Amino acid sequence: MQENKPISRVFTSNSVVLPGHDEPVPATVLVDTWTGKITDVRHGLAVRSDYPDADWLDAGDHIILPGLVDAHVHLNEPGRTDWEGFWTGTRAAASGGVTTLIDMPLNSIPPTTTIANLEQKKAAARGQCWTDVGFWGGVIPGNQAHLKSLVEAGVKGFKCFLIESGVEEFPCVAASDLDGAMKELEGTSSVLCFHAELETEHNHPPQRTSADPTLYETFLHSRPQSLETAAIELITRLHAQHPTLRLHIVHLSASDALPLIRAARASGLPLTVETCFHYLTLDATSIPNGHPEFKCCPPIREAPNRDALWDALKKGEIDCVVSDHSPCVAELKKVDVGDVMGAWGGISTLGLGLSLLWTEGKKRGVHIKDIVKWCCEKTAEHAGLQNTKGTIAAGYDADLIVWDPQANVHVTKESLNFKNKLTPYEGLTLQGRVLKTFLRGHLVYDSVEGFRGEPIGQLL
Ligand SMILES: [Zn+2]
Repeated sequence: MQENKPISRVFTSNSVVLPGHDEPVPATVLVDTWTGKITDVRHGLAVRSDYPDADWLDAGDHIILPGLVDAHVHLNEPGRTDWEGFWTGTRAAASGGVTTLIDMPLNSIPPTTTIANLEQKKAAARGQCWTDVGFWGGVIPGNQAHLKSLVEAGVKGFKCFLIESGVEEFPCVAASDLDGAMKELEGTSSVLCFHAELETEHNHPPQRTSADPTLYETFLHSRPQSLETAAIELITRLHAQHPTLRLHIVHLSASDALPLIRAARASGLPLTVETCFHYLTLDATSIPNGHPEFKCCPPIREAPNRDALWDALKKGEIDCVVSDHSPCVAELKKVDVGDVMGAWGGISTLGLGLSLLWTEGKKRGVHIKDIVKWCCEKTAEHAGLQNTKGTIAAGYDADLIVWDPQANVHVTKESLNFKNKLTPYEGLTLQGRVLKTFLRGHLVYDSVEGFRGEPIGQLL
């Protein structure tokens, strides 16, 4: 029927990041905005007269790359919507070139631990999303009977904690809970993700009751690398008993754990690892005291640790990079009193990740292709979206961003699109700016004109 005829959109640029190329190449991407899919990718530039009926975008020398897939985000709605929400969180994401995000199962009330709770999350999200949104489920003590039905309902995998999570409705699991959960998930294509910090009688850091709670060093001392290595020892031991199940370490901070991860992977276990923008760009010794905006768990560590994480990332021993955007209200972040020990742990990043990684990565010989691998391809694969997201190729969703690698971004409160404008990056000038973000072929964000159209994001 005539009214259903696809309206095509053509993207052409001297620099398109395509699979199989080490550098961006001149190319033309043809999109059917009716289906939201890329229909074809052609090498070389197109001229407008070739496609007289199409909407046309000539990005010139600006780079076209796939939208980012941020596989670790806390949107907190419903229940803690004053911390963050689908509307503000996905707008912040879109402004930074993220076109898909996967929401973590905790900090909303209820947590995503049953089908009924997942339905509540979806109902809260509908009509509010400026990016596509998928959901992780949660493993908590006693919910293992719900796991298979959550897989069937489309959750991308599961998250659990080995140490207290910070919210009472999402308790941590013991090894005995995990054995049952892993048996339930064996044979599925799902993935079980671990917040990998574990206190044991041997690694519990001594209490420093007299220590100043506003010093970053006090907090860093309370969460040593040994908490992460103890957790990862347990995880790899359990993994050997369930060797077909995919396991994943979220937000790795401790480089001391890398040998354990290397050994597990060398033995053939399907274990993947993510780290975060903040562990790669910040350094504990430069963190000002009295600033809980820098607090997250596990903590940001010293520069040599950061260098080791970069090294592992470049070697492929760490698979991907995510935000772990985990905000809260100012009162709980205790910014007025600078109480680092008492503050909520979580860093707000949505919208800044690509510029952060580019600014720091350029000093370390990183190419845009590497960032696409870590933040698009590998994160899509982690969430089971490798056939639709994270790559510019025919048949994939037309999630595309236009990126100016030279332009500066000055981070001010006014420039942030997430709800609570508390971030360790305020005041920084970063390099690389997202000019336009397209979701399924439709413009959703323009750096000059702001958000465009409707929240057309789908629930994945
Ligand atoms: Zn998290």
